Amino acid sequence: MTSFIVEKQGETINFESKFESLSDAKAYIQDKLNYNNFAMSLIEKKKVSEKQIAWMHYLATQSVIDSQTLVEDGEYVNLVKKMYDAGANRRAKFQVRLPGITLSTVNKGPNIGCVYVYENQTYVGKITQNGELIGNASEDVLNLLEDANENLLQLAKIYGHESGCCSICGRKLDDPLSVQMGIGPVCAKKFN
Ligand SMILES: [Zn+2]
Repeated sequence: MTSFIVEKQGETINFESKFESLSDAKAYIQDKLNYNNFAMSLIEKKKVSEKQIAWMHYLATQSVIDSQTLVEDGEYVNLVKKMYDAGANRRAKFQVRLPGITLSTVNKGPNIGCVYVYENQTYVGKITQNGELIGNASEDVLNLLEDANENLLQLAKIYGHESGCCSICGRKLDDPLSVQMGIGPVCAKKFN
């Protein structure tokens, strides 16, 4: 086991890597942490500094530790997975408009892996990576989330039908087929 040091928010962290080599850590990131833009940007660099190597080991090691800590899945774990799967082709955050709420993945900062929930453009809470809702969402929002957990795509379509706007970018849809689908041709191409 090799030990490394990273500086995180002014704190020096000394840890033992769970990975034999950098390529093992990179392979793990590629497989399990591909929603984390910071980790992904590191593994794509041609040249890396000692610091960056330590960070790759750190992120991968922390993720292994987290996954070994048994946490029961929350109610909306499906929804979080669907959101990140849908946005996986893009670096930008993935937003989807549903009738009554908007959901967004998080691509920066400590909430990476969470889904933010907005009601009428007001933030009402976040769903953690393991599907737990934190915040004070109304009964209506809770019902919508429960529905979205099962039928995200269908709700996005309904939003498109009802509003005549793309459920992803919010632009007006003018093609009848797009209205039918609830998503514009550009967004349809960009997302899974
Ligand atoms: Zn669009």
